[in-house]
Amino acid sequence: MSSQIQQEPKILSDKEIKKKMKPIFHKNYQKFYPVDKLDTLGFKRNICTNCGRGFWSTVDREVCDESVCVGGYRFIGKPLTTKRLGYKETWDAYVDIFKQWDYKPIKRYPVVSRWYDALEFTAAGINVFQPYIVQGKQDPPYQRVLEPQMCLRFNDLDNVGITGTHYSAFIMVGQHVFNSKKLGESYWIEDGIEQIYIFLNKRLGISSHDLIFMEDVWSGGGNYGPSMEFFAGGMELGNQVYIQFDSATMEQLDTRVIDMGAGLERWSWFCSDKPTSYETTFPLVLNYLYNQSGYKPNKDIWTHFMKYAGLLNVDETDNISESWKEVAKKIGLTKKELDKEIYPIRALYTIADHTRNLLFAIRDGALPSNVGGGYNLRNILRRCYSFIDEFEFKFDFHKIFELHIEELGEWFPELKETGSLYDILDLEKKRYSETTEKNKKSLKRLLKGKTKVTIDTFIDLYDSQGITPELVKQYDPTIDIPHDFYLRVQERHEQKKVVEKTFKLTSSVPKTKQLYYENTYGSKKSFKANILDIINNEWIVLDKTHFYPEGGGQAADIGTINSEKVIDVQSDSDIIFHKVKKTTKLKINQKITAQIDWFRRYELMKLHSGTHLVNAVAYDVLGKHIFQAGAKKSPGKAHLDLTHFKSLTQDEIDEIERRVNYYINSEPIKSTIKIYPRDQAEAKFSTSIYAGGAIPSTNLRIVSFKDNEACSGTHLNSTGEIGFLKITSAERIQDGIVRLTYVIGQTAVQRVQKQESLLRDLSEIWKVGFDDIPKTGIKFFEEWKKLGKEVKSLQTSLISSVLKTAVEGKKDIEWVQLPFRDQGAINPALENQLDSIKAKSKTLVVYLESSPILLAISGDPNLNLVEYLQKFSKNVKEGKIMRAYQVDKSSLPEDIIKL
Ligand SMILES: [Zn+2]
Ligand SMILES: [Zn+2]
Repeated sequence: MSSQIQQEPKILSDKEIKKKMKPIFHKNYQKFYPVDKLDTLGFKRNICTNCGRGFWSTVDREVCDESVCVGGYRFIGKPLTTKRLGYKETWDAYVDIFKQWDYKPIKRYPVVSRWYDALEFTAAGINVFQPYIVQGKQDPPYQRVLEPQMCLRFNDLDNVGITGTHYSAFIMVGQHVFNSKKLGESYWIEDGIEQIYIFLNKRLGISSHDLIFMEDVWSGGGNYGPSMEFFAGGMELGNQVYIQFDSATMEQLDTRVIDMGAGLERWSWFCSDKPTSYETTFPLVLNYLYNQSGYKPNKDIWTHFMKYAGLLNVDETDNISESWKEVAKKIGLTKKELDKEIYPIRALYTIADHTRNLLFAIRDGALPSNVGGGYNLRNILRRCYSFIDEFEFKFDFHKIFELHIEELGEWFPELKETGSLYDILDLEKKRYSETTEKNKKSLKRLLKGKTKVTIDTFIDLYDSQGITPELVKQYDPTIDIPHDFYLRVQERHEQKKVVEKTFKLTSSVPKTKQLYYENTYGSKKSFKANILDIINNEWIVLDKTHFYPEGGGQAADIGTINSEKVIDVQSDSDIIFHKVKKTTKLKINQKITAQIDWFRRYELMKLHSGTHLVNAVAYDVLGKHIFQAGAKKSPGKAHLDLTHFKSLTQDEIDEIERRVNYYINSEPIKSTIKIYPRDQAEAKFSTSIYAGGAIPSTNLRIVSFKDNEACSGTHLNSTGEIGFLKITSAERIQDGIVRLTYVIGQTAVQRVQKQESLLRDLSEIWKVGFDDIPKTGIKFFEEWKKLGKEVKSLQTSLISSVLKTAVEGKKDIEWVQLPFRDQGAINPALENQLDSIKAKSKTLVVYLESSPILLAISGDPNLNLVEYLQKFSKNVKEGKIMRAYQVDKSSLPEDIIKL
């Protein structure tokens, strides 16, 4: 057997890896942790008598510094640092001390993870360098990097505002060092721990007696390694990870990375005497929220409460309700008194946090919606609205965002460009108000008569209708929603990892020479090449090729190799695989002649370049929040999915089409294609280059027409070659995403011709000129509406007179046949007759001329209509309109039908 496509390996989850590796690292701690350096610095290893973990301290201790082991925070109100630093000041101090070891600070990356397809949002500083830099496929911007990375996380929402340390949006301070054969060796574990120690001890002034280093394991983003958490005063101040293994293969990585991450919010809180970190993170915003709401934290209670709030982390506590009772007892309050103080303030803290999250997310191009990451954004936004309703806060919602911008605008000036932010917020508020009433009704229906509703039901409600626990509380404050609600939701949504299939070669072959890049228009002619490998009797590897492999939304080329049909082309690690229908006549080392279907490819090139143009123009027309959410170019037509918060108007569609054709016909744009190192490309053009998705190489091929995109597709020399582009539809394919579909060149001409022929037909039928078609259409429509009304009124008077006769008749039961097929027509007329029927205590059975519908109306309240009708027909079903029963007409007795 020659070779095969590799089996998918079983991949362990991050949790499973941690569980598996913890005892291994623990046992071999001398190999995996920086023990020599810690020893030199005066730290000794202990084993926690409570949790069993290894930890390092300069003084003898029985337990580690984890809240659950040590029993709470010990720095609230009496800081353990000699320095008092604000939020941004803490970052500045950090950069200042790390400069001596030749670290370089970089700017934050967007919170929307454009360069890493597996993630919606940047959730950790290291994500900026995943997957390709950590895999060694791309070079880092510097070998030693510091970053202030805004990160978004949605699995800790239950903890936000309670524990004093949790946020849905926080700045992760990063220290990253990349070691590899290519880059050379820089700092590793011993240096890393020493540098952090110097920062904590010398710069922040934390005494070495208060510092605890704890052995741990970290796993995420496809890599893992041992890690050292550092604690002081019972709080985790950060985690230094030594990334060195691949989660899929469990093998050593070529690139070994020091990845230290720490919440800036914790550090500045730790350097202050404030009861919570929220007070040091957004003082300006909180000041406004306090003034407007009339609530202000009781410093005494919060200082007490915060000491134990770490125990209320839903992620680490088994019985959260018990923990709350315990904490209340510890600070000498009843649970009720504690709730009364904590809940409104927690709402304010949460609003401050969630709005900051939304500010960054929307600025970086995400939109609230009901799918994917947008779903998380809509829910935190609705959570804010729910809190505002619940406590009847009077806030100017825009003002909160303005204050965040004031607070952070100097550090992150891009926040000042608000774009469509306020429009998006207003629209979301409107949608929220509309659904709240509806949601309350469905809650009422659901909870009616049920004594116990399971948590799963509430999770379903949250998932399907966005009904937040806050709304449930508002509806019925006695309903007990668990404290770890959002954690449970997140667990349900845990993502599956995607494993890429790889081709297994029989021998090692060099990278395929990509002729379609060297001479794109040369793909028109046939070319000669050598067969290097044949896999599974179907995939051919050549030394060079003009066949473009599927990628960047562009379909693969088709064509022939020695007159054998090529039906698919794929690439893997720079080697290109041609799927051939029959390989019996092809051999390894054979010289072949090949030819791609140029007509098809040229159309794909036009569609692809056209897509770049539509994207750039849409950005100008619709606003800066626009981002490509997907694209497909296949022969015949293409579509482009754009993030946008509402449907497009016809004017907007026309304007996009007009401008696109302007750049095709009046002012064609020549393309330039240039290769840049990733960091230079990002610095020059921003991460908007990832419109077409992430690219796994150090050097990015930047295709520039009207905009600049990292793109591996084949492109035209000039937009002029597109000829003509016609948008055929613009639909909202899902919440927050609009799909533009378009055709080009000949297909576009055919499309216009077809539409014109429709108009011609209409003009002939109506006997009017083209220009008179709209006018005539309106005239016909108005006349048709008028006639409809007249018919209705005639029907009504006819029904009235027939029913009147029946009601005034002598029999108790009258059968009435109406000459209509439409049950809708008889409804209003019946309504008018109801009173007189009831007054006469008689039953009318009405049936329509050619429909199996019967309407039975009874003035006798004791008569059971269903039973009554069952006398005539077995099959009686309740109908949609009032007191209507469906009966199969053929089952009725002859004499009745004859009536
Ligand atoms: Zn412990
Ligand atoms: Zn492209």
